[in-house]
Amino acid sequence: MSSAVAKTKPTTRWPLHTRILLGLAVGASAGLLANVLLGGAHPGLRSAVTEILDPVGRLFPRLLAMTVVPLVFSSLVLGVAGIGDYRKLGRVGLKSFGYCLVISALSVVIGITLVNTIRPGKHVPAETAKALQDRYAKDASQQVADAGKSKSTDPALVQVIDTIVPTNPIQSVAGKSLNLLHLMFFALLLGIATTLVPEDRTGPFLRALEGLGSICAKLIDLIMQLAPYCVACLVFSNLALFGVDVLAAIGWYVVTVLVGLGLHMFGVYSIFLKLLARVSPFEFFRRIRTVMFTAFSTSSSVATLPTTLKVSEEAIGVPKSINSFVLTIGATANQNGTALYEGVTVLFLAQLAGVDLTLAQQFTVAGMAILGSIGTAGLPSASIPFVVVVLGNIGVNPELIGIILGVDRLLDMCRTVVNVVGDVTAAAFVARSEGYELMKDGVS
Ligand code: ASP
Repeated sequence: MSSAVAKTKPTTRWPLHTRILLGLAVGASAGLLANVLLGGAHPGLRSAVTEILDPVGRLFPRLLAMTVVPLVFSSLVLGVAGIGDYRKLGRVGLKSFGYCLVISALSVVIGITLVNTIRPGKHVPAETAKALQDRYAKDASQQVADAGKSKSTDPALVQVIDTIVPTNPIQSVAGKSLNLLHLMFFALLLGIATTLVPEDRTGPFLRALEGLGSICAKLIDLIMQLAPYCVACLVFSNLALFGVDVLAAIGWYVVTVLVGLGLHMFGVYSIFLKLLARVSPFEFFRRIRTVMFTAFSTSSSVATLPTTLKVSEEAIGVPKSINSFVLTIGATANQNGTALYEGVTVLFLAQLAGVDLTLAQQFTVAGMAILGSIGTAGLPSASIPFVVVVLGNIGVNPELIGIILGVDRLLDMCRTVVNVVGDVTAAAFVARSEGYELMKDGVS
């Protein structure tokens, strides 16, 4: 009797995206309040954040990242094997590449136009810039030293091959930092080779990968239950120690980046969604809100990838074969928010340093930003080393990076959302162009 009652009892649990949003709101308001009342440098606040809240918050992106290797491997091999025919694979690849290039170029054009119109670098008094540079001098020097270390003297083609082709795929995923491009390349070739071997030989392997994929999806479901709590801790940690005064000092720069990201996300993506994917942009954004919240709180396209793969398939209706290919590669290579941010930041710091770049030089920076965004890993603050290198190339002191480090986390959260949403719009475009109908059911 009692079990029958329990079964019919309506569930009062809020949907996951509502709970994550609540976690975000609680974390953000409490973090800002603590910052305003105690100040970001308060020792008690700092130790509460660094010893408890930040580690608890980081549990979430860490757990998600844990599923990336088995998930990417299984979904990419299955995706490529599922596409089966070469021509289709080539078409999907070309369309994704073309779309990514055009949309990244548009994002950089928006950023560069804004930075030339608003001219944020001319709004920062020299003494404020100097004070910020001194305050973040240690972190800036570290960034410059790291960027110098990673400089390679190999010819460009050797560098490209090293970046893409692994010699040992196990090592690529077992090293201290995960090399997603290597993993993807290996999985891609394995998927192609699978289609060339008779089905009775590959069947057990593909079924095992299907099992692995389903188990990972379940694991992600379980991890996502922790999201509301961890997101609250992550956002609290970021905002409580955030330099609110830094925000005020370089407010015009922050406004330039945020306006650019907003225009790209709600303007360019909406137009592309309406015209190319032929779906309602509003409904599209509504359906992928869990992806946006996850990207915002983790600041990592890679950590968000498991959620992106799931939501794009279940809520948008992009088939697995296209999703696994476009979204996995997109998580590292299609980063529109990052491209815009890198372009704006380099030009802002050049303006601040009084280095007037000619139009041709600005085009070079734009080209570098597009390439840079392709090479930037989908990890928190991964753009910074790139900005450091480009500053050095155009004759601006790379140590100036210190000026923006205090606000980087906030901008990282926002640009990561734009990056990840860009991947789902790319997957939607490719799926639509291959004849799949999107968002046809009421699933959200
Ligand atoms: N955090 C960004 C991402 O994961 C990369 C960056 O721009 O730093 O997409």
